[in-house]
Amino acid sequence: MDKRIFENYAGLEGRQLLEPILRDFRGRAAVVSSFGAESSVLLHMVAEVDPATPVIFLDTGKHFWETLSYRSKLIDRLGLTGVRSISPDAADLAATDPDGMLHKSNTDLCCNVRKTIPLQNALQGFDVIISGRKRYHGAARATLDFLSIAEGRLKVEPLAGFSALDLGAYMKSHDLPQHPLTEIGYFSIGCEPCTTPGGNSTDPRAGRWAGTNKTECGIHWTHNGREIPALSTVHN
Ligand code: SF4
Repeated sequence: MDKRIFENYAGLEGRQLLEPILRDFRGRAAVVSSFGAESSVLLHMVAEVDPATPVIFLDTGKHFWETLSYRSKLIDRLGLTGVRSISPDAADLAATDPDGMLHKSNTDLCCNVRKTIPLQNALQGFDVIISGRKRYHGAARATLDFLSIAEGRLKVEPLAGFSALDLGAYMKSHDLPQHPLTEIGYFSIGCEPCTTPGGNSTDPRAGRWAGTNKTECGIHWTHNGREIPALSTVHN
């Protein structure tokens, strides 16, 4: 993939960006979604353009039941037909996290086994990755580009410029259901052992790996800058 392709989509965002991307890369583009607190906005746009678009959900085995329920609810409500739930490799889990407690001792390694490696495998055959990150989430996301190239793939962030108000207004105007945990104080929602309510924080990602320096699972950035040896090769 060459950066000159950016010229085809200059100045576009939101659905205006998503639509030509899904048209131009039909069958070669995948959405990655956590079905978390703000996921309904991008998923609604995807469903309106092409409900059969592949949507990858990483079923880490550590999600809140509310997230799994919300995933089913959104799939039905939006008519999405391309959602794929991807699980960690059983051999990798047996080797590294046999008792399911790795998150207590090594969150980076746990994310690597339960998220990063499964995603790498799931993305085989796709040239374009679409996700719903926003600049207003701050930290490494504050300078997010709508389009970038990573590991030879085009990465598309249609919602990069959306604010919390924009997202709330979109959800309200399209009558989209809320993730049930947002009603009891959760902000950003990931795996159950690593997510707590946001409390009085103004950080929209407060409650993720609370009390640690970790801010990302390693899917979008390389393990907070630290190299972790992959435990299995990408499955072809
Ligand atoms: S968020 Fe927590 S439980 Fe989920 S994969 Fe990462 S370390 Fe493991």
